[in-house]
Amino acid sequence: MSDYMFMLESHLSADQNRVLEQVQAAAGAAGVNLFLSGGGMRDMLGGFRVRDLDFSVEGHALKVAQTLEEQGARRLAVDENRRSAELVFPSGVTAQVAMSRKERYAKTGARPQVTPATIQEDLRGRDFTVNAMALSLNRASRGLLLDPTNGLADLGRREMRSTHPYVFYDDPARLLRLVRLRVRLSFTVEERTRMQYDNARAAHLENLIPPRALLEELKRIAAEPSPGEVLHALNQDGLLELLSSALAGSGLNLHALTRLEKAAKLVESANIPVEPQFGAFLLALTAKLTPREKSGLFKAAEIPQADIDEMRTLEPRARKLEQALKSVRVKKPSHVYQILADAPTGEMVFLLGNSAERVVQERIRNYLQKYLPAIQEVAPAAWAALDGQPGTPKYLRSRQALLASRLDVRPRRTPEAPPAPETAAPVEAVARGRQR
Ligand code: ATP
Ligand code: MG
Repeated sequence: MSDYMFMLESHLSADQNRVLEQVQAAAGAAGVNLFLSGGGMRDMLGGFRVRDLDFSVEGHALKVAQTLEEQGARRLAVDENRRSAELVFPSGVTAQVAMSRKERYAKTGARPQVTPATIQEDLRGRDFTVNAMALSLNRASRGLLLDPTNGLADLGRREMRSTHPYVFYDDPARLLRLVRLRVRLSFTVEERTRMQYDNARAAHLENLIPPRALLEELKRIAAEPSPGEVLHALNQDGLLELLSSALAGSGLNLHALTRLEKAAKLVESANIPVEPQFGAFLLALTAKLTPREKSGLFKAAEIPQADIDEMRTLEPRARKLEQALKSVRVKKPSHVYQILADAPTGEMVFLLGNSAERVVQERIRNYLQKYLPAIQEVAPAAWAALDGQPGTPKYLRSRQALLASRLDVRPRRTPEAPPAPETAAPVEAVARGRQR
């Protein structure tokens, strides 16, 4: 096995490795060349956590994506022009499967004319060198690193460097990408790239970013580990005005964003995957804006109505959960567990970030830090032994008895010798992971 293949497999999570194998099998069956590319490569080689896997296919990428969908992956988005699909697998792993391509930009910010190309050509046309590396996943050249713009050296220097001088002229959304990535990675910007950026800004190219690209970038910012820091940096660079001049003034609510970030991290620390909550992000982002300013922002980025509705209904939904959690009928840990195990993650995150009720805060924290770990230790055999069919009252009673036996009993005074550790029960962990 080549060093890079070894590095890759040891760097990815078990679920990501399974997706890697599945995508390789699908590409093999379709008879197309497959590469790991983009941010996934950058993160693996730079020692960062790989957030999502970016695959490039020399050939029919959407066919590979379709095979993966037939095997259970869900499509998050598709770009027919670029022949690229974003998928989420049942384990929660996200991946992009894209055709390797050449893009020609007739006008700044216009949709590019896309033609199929080799992976080398594709890499040369990307935005920054650290994003322009690929690893061959094909039998004859498996593990070969493709790095036509010398991104590996820039990664070592922790520097963002453009792949060519027209990077921002072709696609001004890359101005936003530069700020976002340099903030996330704590990289500096190479001198010539800085000059290209300054020239593009002097020519006001940012005004040519189309609303669909603003929306895409806003969604990526929402999915960042620290969206507040990225927005702050954009504000300092005078780019936040693209979304809203009110936001760029005193309207940026960094406190609300930080509270949301902290709450999401707390939930994630209990191994509950938190899908990017765009509605929650929008709510925090626009908290200080007037209704008119809000609709101006929604228009600037053409935010879909479904996202606006999600934003508007989040607080009332979360307040219902808050009522349930502070109800006098909730007396025991198993009651708290029952309520939160069925609650959508977004509502739990919202309450952690916003609820002023101490009892609610405490109950959610206990659930995450005590009750959930205790229930995840229940052996699969104990779940299998529950009475009745899942969903029936008999089953629910039996489940409640099991939860109560694990959560509601007080610890004994004289501790016994610890029992042999039971294997973690995937049953409950997986069920919880599906909650959104
Ligand atoms: P993240 O970690 O946020 O996913 P990423 O670099 O992987 O960051 P993606 O948006 O997932 O970003 O895109 C995958 C890859 O596609 C990038 O690494 C880059 O090589 C390329 N890419 C994405 N958007 C652009 C763009 N506007 N111009 C050029 N290349 C791009
Ligand atoms: Mg990516």
